[in-house]
Amino acid sequence: MKKKITTFGLMILLTLSYSITAFAAVKTMPDGQKFDPVYYAEQNEDVVKAVGKTEEALYKHYVDYGKAEGRLPYKDAPKPETKKSDNTTTVTKSTDTKAATTNNTSQKVYITKTGKCYHNAGCSSLKKSKIETTLDEAKKKGLTACKNCH
Ligand SMILES: [Zn+2]
Repeated sequence: MKKKITTFGLMILLTLSYSITAFAAVKTMPDGQKFDPVYYAEQNEDVVKAVGKTEEALYKHYVDYGKAEGRLPYKDAPKPETKKSDNTTTVTKSTDTKAATTNNTSQKVYITKTGKCYHNAGCSSLKKSKIETTLDEAKKKGLTACKNCH
C-alpha cells in the first residue's frame, strides 16, 4: 500500500514538473540525474522508434542503455567518462615514473672492478670494466661519485 502511494506521488510530481517545463529542456529526475527528454528524443531517433516519445520511456532507456552507450542525457552534459578514466591512468603512470627517477636509491650507476667511484653510463672511466648497480648499493660499498661524470 505504501509503495502505491509513493509511486502515485511521484507520478503527480513528474506530471507537474513536466507540464511546467515541457519545453524548458533540462530537468532533474527523482534520482538526481539531469535529463532532457526533448533533446534526448531529438538526438536518438532510433530510441524514439523503439520506446516512443514519452519522458518516462526515454529516461528509462537512458538509465538502462543510453548511459552505457555514451548517449548524452541533455545538451551540455559532460561527455561519457570512459576516456576520462584512461587519462587518469596515464597521469598516474607518468607520476610514478617521475617518482622512480627522482628516487635516488634505485637510480642506476656503474662501477668498476677496482675503482672507488661510481659513474654515469657514458663515463670514460668505464672503458675497462662496467658493472651495473644502483646508487644505493654503490654508497653501501663506500664508493663516491666520480668527479669526471658527476
Ligand atoms: Zn665517472
